[in-house]
Amino acid sequence: MIRLIFAVVLALAVAPATAREIAITFDDAPTNDTATFTGEERTKRLIAALKAAGIEQAAFFCVPRGRPAAELTRLNAYAAAGHIIANHSDTHRNLRSLPADEYLADIVAADAALKSFATFRPWFRFPFLAEGDTREKREAVRAGLRAMNYKQGYVTVDNYDWYLNTLANNARTTGQVVDEAALRDLYVETLIKAVEFYDAIAVKTLGRSPRHVLLLHENDLAALYIADLVGELRKRGWKIIGADLAYADPIADIMPDTQFLNQGRVAAIAHTKGMKPIELVHEEEDEAVLDGLFAARVVRTKP
Ligand SMILES: [Zn+2]
Repeated sequence: MIRLIFAVVLALAVAPATAREIAITFDDAPTNDTATFTGEERTKRLIAALKAAGIEQAAFFCVPRGRPAAELTRLNAYAAAGHIIANHSDTHRNLRSLPADEYLADIVAADAALKSFATFRPWFRFPFLAEGDTREKREAVRAGLRAMNYKQGYVTVDNYDWYLNTLANNARTTGQVVDEAALRDLYVETLIKAVEFYDAIAVKTLGRSPRHVLLLHENDLAALYIADLVGELRKRGWKIIGADLAYADPIADIMPDTQFLNQGRVAAIAHTKGMKPIELVHEEEDEAVLDGLFAARVVRTKP
């Protein structure tokens, strides 16, 4: 008995503390030129930053917009760097605004443009994380995806990185002075809060921290600050994992029976277990809140 206790104590002492795990994903690639970067510059910077941060496999959920694979050279660069290419529809419409069959045709069109990439995965991420305004429509698209042998490219951590990016580019194009260090800190801080917020909900409702999927966009702030974000996550004990591993988590097989899906899978599961929508949206998933933080911390008046 004593020997058994000794063995257990030794095993506990030797076993590393289990790190919480998260994969990094980017939506809407390839995005347009902005006042900060051309699309080509953004892709180069993002690939270099991911490499420097030791992230071997991020995932890019792409919107080909009718362009054939040969024209999607930036996606080829992501694939060549080892990152996954997946489907975010051809024209990025909201399922609320069109019938299920038209929506599925748009997924098929994107599939045709993307499937020849070496690192393509048949994963679909709903634009706006919107799965339709009715249960019937939601189930029709879920069935259509299953028929195509697609899995859902769900997220577990929703946030407003896209809105901060819009604020930053608006400030630059209107000649305001942007405090780059303050912008970086606000980006990192907002995202860390979102990660911890949804992880706490997961622990409360699943009883564990799942392998998370962070939603980001292929935007200027990601190209500028992804390494800072990853550094802060690691400092807090997070391990960055590949998207393949993240989508092997058991929550990949849970299809929540709810229309509350816009905050991602953890929030949707929590909603089916009785948590209220107001408890499942982080306070910084709000344009007015971010407007205030951006004005107070990032924009400087000209000397
Ligand atoms: Zn999108």
